[in-house]
Amino acid sequence: MTKDAFDLVIGLGVSGRSVLRYLQGQGMAVRALDTRPAPAGLDDLHAEFPKLKVHTGGFKKGWMERARRLIVSPGVAISTPAIAARIAEGKEVIGDIELFARAASRPLVAITGSNAKSTVTTLLGEVAEACGRQPGVGGNLGIPALDLLASDAGLYVLELSSFQLETTYSLNAQVATILNVSQDHLDRYNRFSDYLAAKQRIYDGCQVAVWNRDDVATRPQVPVPREVTFGSHPQADYRLDSDRNALLYKGEILLTLDQLTLTGHHNAMNVLAVLAMADALGLERETALATVCAFQGLPHRCQKVAEAGDVRWFNDSKATNVGATLAALTGIGEAINGKVILIAGGQGKGQDFSPLAEPARQYLRAALLLGEDADKVADGLIGVPRERIETMAEAVTRARQLAQPGDAVLLSPACASFDMYSGYTERGDDFARHAREVSHG
Ligand code: ADP
Repeated sequence: MTKDAFDLVIGLGVSGRSVLRYLQGQGMAVRALDTRPAPAGLDDLHAEFPKLKVHTGGFKKGWMERARRLIVSPGVAISTPAIAARIAEGKEVIGDIELFARAASRPLVAITGSNAKSTVTTLLGEVAEACGRQPGVGGNLGIPALDLLASDAGLYVLELSSFQLETTYSLNAQVATILNVSQDHLDRYNRFSDYLAAKQRIYDGCQVAVWNRDDVATRPQVPVPREVTFGSHPQADYRLDSDRNALLYKGEILLTLDQLTLTGHHNAMNVLAVLAMADALGLERETALATVCAFQGLPHRCQKVAEAGDVRWFNDSKATNVGATLAALTGIGEAINGKVILIAGGQGKGQDFSPLAEPARQYLRAALLLGEDADKVADGLIGVPRERIETMAEAVTRARQLAQPGDAVLLSPACASFDMYSGYTERGDDFARHAREVSHG
């Protein structure tokens, strides 16, 4: 290694900073760059790393060429020409999860999927905690993976995005799962198959693959030592039996759906996945069952935020793709006596919205469409009464006018929020505030 060899960290968001902390802690020479001219929190970065050489506003060519390795944040596509050229030359290009996997000395559970990652990661973390395994829970959710290494975890439970998996080579998880796959991020992947291939990397070197028997794209494409399945398919090991309203393991009832606080078919799938992984880790079954029954779900995922005049208001702002909205619409549509008024729209990321049309015709009273791609969502909802709306306040007021006793108003946008908000939490909070105002005002 030459005297001035350095690692170059690309992207100065939350995970980029965890990489800087980790590499500096290891005594490695490191530099950092961000293509944005003024990434948020630059002052804090300089305060945390006073001597760090930082470049902003583009890929600094000399650094890109001279760096020993590139550590790329998930927000930056490795297909970007400046990075792709270095890969083609044979330079090592990895991400934070690869550094984590090389350093972690405890068993790892790796969780991906188009939807349900955060719910399943959090719930499995709670089960492991209740079973006394002191899990380190994080990754794409909450604490960045490398920051977990500093704690005294007995087990790691990581949520991983397809972007993180693209730059990971040595995961070797004890248990790995793809929960489900539906269209998403087509603004960053040229082909759906590239997105699937990124997700499949989660199984590389794993001991147990847990996959969704109802969704064949989740099945491992590489040989793995052991496979366990969940789903409503008759051959699933962990199975939802809709006739008996129960969750079964190899034909034996584990629990009935009325024991769960969570509702909806999609959440039954999430609980099955958690129970399958808990068993694969050898966690105590009774404790796992008690924990999943008590779990109330996460905010912004089909969360009831107001109720008045026999109308319920649900915030599902985290539904940033069609698959998530499909699950929420079906789950709530089946659970109520009335109809659903759906508030949707935002940045559509190149998705096809037509899979929503059939359940929308079945369950919707109307769709109120917001944001940059409102018209594209409207094009997918053929045969459904739909209106174009400009603001969340207006959407909520209109929903109140339309709602009849027994109805539910559901914010489940099927789109990203960045055209109107800083993120899905701000969007969900805005909806919830207005929903409470019109319900109680
Ligand atoms: P992720 O971390 O993958 O985005 P979340 O747990 O935050 O997953 O949930 C994201 C969205 O997906 C929410 O809108 C939620 O209602 C919906 N969802 C949850 N579980 C499922 C599932 N099994 N299938 C489809 N959608 C789901």
